[in-house]
Amino acid sequence: MANFHELIEGFHNFREEYLLKETEFFEELKHGQNPHTLVIACCDSRVDPAIILGCRPGDLFVVRSVAALVPHAGDASKSDAVMAAVEYGVKHLEVDNIVVMGHSNCGGIFGAINHEKIAHEKFISGWVSLANPVIEEMRREEPDADPVTFVRRCEEAAVLLSIENLLSYHWLEEKVCEGSLNLHALYYDMAAGTLNLWDAKKEDFVESRLAT
Ligand SMILES: [Zn+2]
Repeated sequence: MANFHELIEGFHNFREEYLLKETEFFEELKHGQNPHTLVIACCDSRVDPAIILGCRPGDLFVVRSVAALVPHAGDASKSDAVMAAVEYGVKHLEVDNIVVMGHSNCGGIFGAINHEKIAHEKFISGWVSLANPVIEEMRREEPDADPVTFVRRCEEAAVLLSIENLLSYHWLEEKVCEGSLNLHALYYDMAAGTLNLWDAKKEDFVESRLAT
């Protein structure tokens, strides 16, 4: 897709291939949405959650933020776009799951690690600094890690930080405690072509497998 007109062509292909063919399905969607899962993913053009997770319109309520970061309750402003979507997904749509999906080669995490490169960019630097706690922790815990491993660990830890920050909102934590809401941490490894899931027992991200 190089030009704007190709997006319009894209819509017309979608209309002919799906909208006009699957009339019953789209008719139902006209009356409202009932997504089962809220996904918080990075803005990166390569990590569209609906495509990666094989979902259809109506399946996912999605909010995308740079590096899939979620602010802690103490850091969120009242006009925070991520938290507005999370609040709506949890309180109104009553989703069953929240998925935070980080990914490899994340420019947002790169910026957070190399803060001097984006320090003069007000909104980027302000946003990615939400990841500072994990970067500082990694610098303390893995001072000798090679640069590739260090970045990887920061990308993974940022996903867990977002999960932790979600739990700082009492109305969300309550739902998790009562068992009506599940939180999931995912890491999409583009180079390896794998989707890795956080395994609390192993305390690591583990490659997902198809259930047999
Ligand atoms: Zn990213």
